[in-house]
Amino acid sequence: MFHPNEKGFYGQYGGAYIPEMLIPNIEELKKNYLEILESETFQKEYHLLLNDYAGRPSPLFKAQRLSDKYNTNIWLKREDLNHTGSHKLNNTIGQILLAKKMGRQRIIAETGAGQHGVATATVCALMGLQCIVYMGQTDMERQAPNVARMRMLGAEVRPALSGNRTLKDATNEALRDWIANPTDTFYLIGSVVGPHPYPDMVARLQAIISLEIKQQLKQKVGTELPDYVIACVGGGSNAAGSFYHFLEDASVRLIGTEAAGLGVDSGETAASMACGDIGIIHGSMTYLMQNEDGQITEPYSISAGLDYPGIGPLHAHLKDSGRATYMPVTDEESLQAALELTRLEGIIPALESAHALAVLPKMNFKPGDQVVVTVSGRGDKDMKAYMEYFKLTE
Ligand SMILES: *Cc1c(COP(=O)(O)O)cnc(C)c1O
Repeated sequence: MFHPNEKGFYGQYGGAYIPEMLIPNIEELKKNYLEILESETFQKEYHLLLNDYAGRPSPLFKAQRLSDKYNTNIWLKREDLNHTGSHKLNNTIGQILLAKKMGRQRIIAETGAGQHGVATATVCALMGLQCIVYMGQTDMERQAPNVARMRMLGAEVRPALSGNRTLKDATNEALRDWIANPTDTFYLIGSVVGPHPYPDMVARLQAIISLEIKQQLKQKVGTELPDYVIACVGGGSNAAGSFYHFLEDASVRLIGTEAAGLGVDSGETAASMACGDIGIIHGSMTYLMQNEDGQITEPYSISAGLDYPGIGPLHAHLKDSGRATYMPVTDEESLQAALELTRLEGIIPALESAHALAVLPKMNFKPGDQVVVTVSGRGDKDMKAYMEYFKLTE
């Protein structure tokens, strides 16, 4: 019910709306990905790297002072403790193994904030593969430390110079590259977005998060099933991974949080579910923010990783079917939640992850509830925003 059909549709969402010249590439990926992902050799190599390179399993930590504050049981799934500081490596490890098995030597990716670019450059260095990352010129200036990381890792960062010079423009450049280099190149997408089979493939690679939550919760409290799973949603990959193995367990309430920026009515927002409507972005049918002419509008959020005008098609389907609930969270709310976690638990979260934590005061938990919140990444990269907002230099 929550898996895509043969053509990649989750209900009415998803599919593969791509230029004709990309059809052979997508067809080849479609033909191979499931068989490779499910093969014993892939599973062995993937899990070995997850364990010994990424540092998995990531802990499921009982946040006791946070639990006391909200009078319930709050567990943090610590994706921030992965190598490179977020869940993104789970996906890039999987796709780089897939690329190798398909005989591809050249890896391309696009990145907005640079986090996916760094995770891609990391696994390319690990595997000795050529890496080209497209990034909007504006983003390159805003995210200079990540550009430097990618270069240190041996990747070539190519500026996208069209449009607003942000993520959408970088995506166009990457697609153009893929059309021009169909046989030797693997396009490594960073979230549960893009044409089929990417959303399904990335969800499967991030599903390790919910697989571990089940095992860890069973061990700690004697049940596999929490009452709530809460995760932030940019494109939706850490949320998809956190939800994946609970989709058929109707008693588990799934909550996604999207970035409202300055507020859902402010015009400065990235809440594509609260503010968007249905259209096509990045090769797939989903909710996105567009103007009356169908032009995609520039999103805004303080959190660079949630600053995306669309949402993965799985989430659009989960929203419409009522299986998951999505709540908007403003910049301000996320900053306060980041400070709260830091002061109560000694964990500085990424601003993206703080969007998940920010719904805790809005919920009505019972004292016996088991609540899992995915901390998708660590906050080091966001210290500049924290320094400014909390006046930490005075
Ligand atoms: C990229 C990123 C996100 C948003 O991406 P999803 O695909 O929605 O998970 C969230 N948190 C962190 C730390 C990120 O780096």
